[in-house]
Amino acid sequence: MADGLKPVGRFAPTPSGRMHLGNVFSAMLAWLSVRSRDGEMVLRMEDLDTQRTSAEFAQVLREDLLWLGLTWDRETPAQSTRSRVYDVYFQKLDDLGLLYPCYCTRSQLHSADAPHLSDGTYVYPGTCRHLTREQRESFHREPAWRVMVPDREWVVSDRVQGESRWNLATDCGDMVMRRADGVYVYQLAVTVDDGESGVTEVVRGMDLLSSAPRQMYLQELFGFPHPAYAHVPLLLAPDGRRLSKRDQDLDLGKLRQRMSPEDLLGMLAYCAGIVDRTGPVSLQELVCEFSWDKVRRDEICLGAEMNCFRMI
Ligand code: GLU
Repeated sequence: MADGLKPVGRFAPTPSGRMHLGNVFSAMLAWLSVRSRDGEMVLRMEDLDTQRTSAEFAQVLREDLLWLGLTWDRETPAQSTRSRVYDVYFQKLDDLGLLYPCYCTRSQLHSADAPHLSDGTYVYPGTCRHLTREQRESFHREPAWRVMVPDREWVVSDRVQGESRWNLATDCGDMVMRRADGVYVYQLAVTVDDGESGVTEVVRGMDLLSSAPRQMYLQELFGFPHPAYAHVPLLLAPDGRRLSKRDQDLDLGKLRQRMSPEDLLGMLAYCAGIVDRTGPVSLQELVCEFSWDKVRRDEICLGAEMNCFRMI
């Protein structure tokens, strides 16, 4: 971000259910980061998966954010309405000669001989990169479209996680940009939306760190500047499991019946390391207390705090 320019942050929720504690945690940090520097906040509904998301959930999400006091300055159009815009960027990749159709089936991609990484994801081995026209025509079905990735290093300088090095050729291989059913994928949509809305910083859960180099690559191809990144720790249940929308007693619907916004924010700010004692805190106090240097880096295992969330 150029000196003197106001930061622009974003909330990018997927409206597929009520927010859980982890979503609130990321949203709170995204908001504090921007508001503590008098910046602007953008809201965007990530509803590419129209089966799992709904306008009703989107509305509840807005209400939940407002209940917490996590305000935004503008809402950009939901991703489900933007495929014509994504077409333009998809075409740019095609004009650069970087796209090719991929006919691999899900079972081929996940078969035992496909190279898998330790986290269970696979590296696309480029199977369809060099198909001839005849071979392509012999499939008689719509392909997915992949972008070729270069064999080079990307350095992600993250405000919380520090520096990490990535090589897309060995970390993921050529990436799908549009699925066979015509739906654009998260990586393309997020890069276009963040770029077009002038986002200068991306704050989200640590589980999305590996998306940063993928999005940085696309930002370069599309001509967008790189935003600053902060991948915040995940909240874990006492047994080490990641909290998810399945922990329904910890979703905001249930929490709102038991806690005030200040109770909830105070507890999360304590978990994050922003304040050093538990107890209710207002967002205004947190804006004064906030600094990225205080935010814990490692996963946060909720022990006693978990019971507080359940019992307050
Ligand atoms: N929509 C994603 C989620 O709700 C967040 C994506 C992002 O922040 O880039 O988990």
